Amino acid sequence: MNLLLNPKQYRDRNYPDERSKEIMLKMIEWFENKGLANHKEQYHKHEFCEDFQQFVTEEGFFETLFLPSGYGSDPDQYYSTYRMYEFSEICGFYGAAYWYAFHVSTLGLDPVLLGDNEEAKHLAAAKLKENALCAFALSEKEHGADIYSTETKLYPQEDGSYLARGNKYYIGNGNVASTVTVFGKIDGTDEYVFFVVDAAHPKYECVKRITDSNQQYVAEIKLHDYPISEAEILSRGPKAWDDMLNTINICKFNIGSGATGIVTHSFYESLNHAYKRILYGKRVTEFAQIKRLFCDSWLRIMGMKLFGLRATDYMRVANDNDKRYLLFNPVMKMKVAMQGEKVHELLFDIIAAKGFEKDMYFEQAVKELVGFSKLEGTRHVNMALIIKLIPSYMFSPGEFQEIGRITDNRNEEYLFRQGRTRGYARTKFHDFNLAYNSVSHLPNVQVYMEQIKAYQEFLKISGEGLDQQMKDFDYLLAVGEIFTMVAYGQLIIESAKIEGVSDEILNQIFDVYVRDFSAYAVELYGKPVNTEAQLGSIMKMIKRPVPDQAQFEKILQEEVYSLVDVYIQNP
Ligand SMILES: Cc1cc2nc3c(=O)[nH]c(=O)nc-3n(C[C@H](O)[C@H](O)[C@H](O)COP(=O)(O)OP(=O)(O)OC[C@H]3O[C@@H](n4cnc5c(N)ncnc54)[C@H](O)[C@@H]3O)c2cc1C
Repeated sequence: MNLLLNPKQYRDRNYPDERSKEIMLKMIEWFENKGLANHKEQYHKHEFCEDFQQFVTEEGFFETLFLPSGYGSDPDQYYSTYRMYEFSEICGFYGAAYWYAFHVSTLGLDPVLLGDNEEAKHLAAAKLKENALCAFALSEKEHGADIYSTETKLYPQEDGSYLARGNKYYIGNGNVASTVTVFGKIDGTDEYVFFVVDAAHPKYECVKRITDSNQQYVAEIKLHDYPISEAEILSRGPKAWDDMLNTINICKFNIGSGATGIVTHSFYESLNHAYKRILYGKRVTEFAQIKRLFCDSWLRIMGMKLFGLRATDYMRVANDNDKRYLLFNPVMKMKVAMQGEKVHELLFDIIAAKGFEKDMYFEQAVKELVGFSKLEGTRHVNMALIIKLIPSYMFSPGEFQEIGRITDNRNEEYLFRQGRTRGYARTKFHDFNLAYNSVSHLPNVQVYMEQIKAYQEFLKISGEGLDQQMKDFDYLLAVGEIFTMVAYGQLIIESAKIEGVSDEILNQIFDVYVRDFSAYAVELYGKPVNTEAQLGSIMKMIKRPVPDQAQFEKILQEEVYSLVDVYIQNP
């Protein structure tokens, strides 16, 4: 049951149309034709991935992937997180630079699509035909996550137009994008504004490349009295603020899928290498610790994938009465990306020196993935969001109709009109116990449920004092990591059922998570602000999985080691 992406045995994801499948297959073919050696040469020469830009522009991929219905040249146009997931995963699989060029393009386009300016939407859609790369200019050098302090401004002119002045920092595709959406303020007011500029305009300066990243271009850009009329203004005031947050909401989902693609490729490379490496007369894959490392890596990637597919379903059904995606989306961004880093840590212990070699995908993957959890709000900023949902999720579930895997061609119009970002903490969820109860016969799920019960007890015992304690962000993070585990496990169970994952595999996945849960509990236990009562309930969260050596060996041989050589990138 290998759910992992294998470009050489492409699994048709039941797309409702040929175009979706064509995009994935053509993209894979392009990467494989380019080959690993060419790719690595470009990577080590720090060449911007212009060939990727040309290809996706010629093929109109971003037009199909990014636009909601009513825009672009296809009368059947629709926006689907499902195919965005797959494209993002494929790009990550072949290199973070391709993924980043894709990701910041969708980030760059979405403030236009969310905005109030219909003409600008059609213009930006048309521009994709000439140049598919867009850019999102939010961050400033001095202000990081503190968007309130934005200094870029529009200066009103006597004729009713504006001049834009300011610097933006860490702007992906800032060297070439023809749609660059810029977040700023109207001078002399506190009014926010989103407007659009073009990197080719003489009043736009790409000052420099600010990271030593290999094929991607992360720029400092400067606007020198860039003329702006109403035609370039996308949204103003609270709407501009909400559009900024909602753009990030739509796009940060890509971070989890991109990370899944990256570690999947790293996994194949590590396995192919270790299996063929003979030390002391036996394969490296026969060492006991290597078996554990490989099995845990594969189970973690399976978890990343299962979670991502299920979170996709919740993105696709989002509407005014169903905002469950507001939890699953930041988990996709943060937890899945960080699980990827964990997988690399395990694989690096196996691949060892080989993982440093310049001809391997691995050496770049490890370096590039660490950036993922820092994009679109750091781990801390995302956790600050997630934590607000604890009371609603843990203690007052709502009623929702069950949803299945959603692969159809529905246009996810709601994502483009998410509206005000208020009322977040009142978001309702269905009862997470439904998922856990459905597989409570699995020994490790049972243990996990006991851990969740102990966590609930901890929250109850903590009472209102917890709000005070969580003003200590360090404490908040520790409480939040455990909460995230509950939601993460729930969606994995739901997804495993849909995908037909066996009980044995699911039980072994929870072997990993029981250990993770315990590790987070130990972390929380160490925090100085705990009360005696809290310490007692935290101790109850520390548990061990139920060992099943035969099951472990079976999965290792039948599921993990059977993947040797199923994927090798073209040379
Ligand atoms: C490779 C790369 C590409 C990027 N591409 C783009 C792009 O295309 N467009 C764009 O606009 N931006 C881009 N960014 C910027 C990115 O979004 C910022 O990194 C992000 O906004 C955070 O800013 P910072 O990294 O300077 O951290 P800072 O904001 O300086 O944060 C410092 C520390 O404070 C913590 N912190 C911040 N706020 C809070 C809070 N409210 N509560 C608790 N802790 C907090 C952070 O977690 C962090 O540990 C990119 C960044 C990178 C690394």
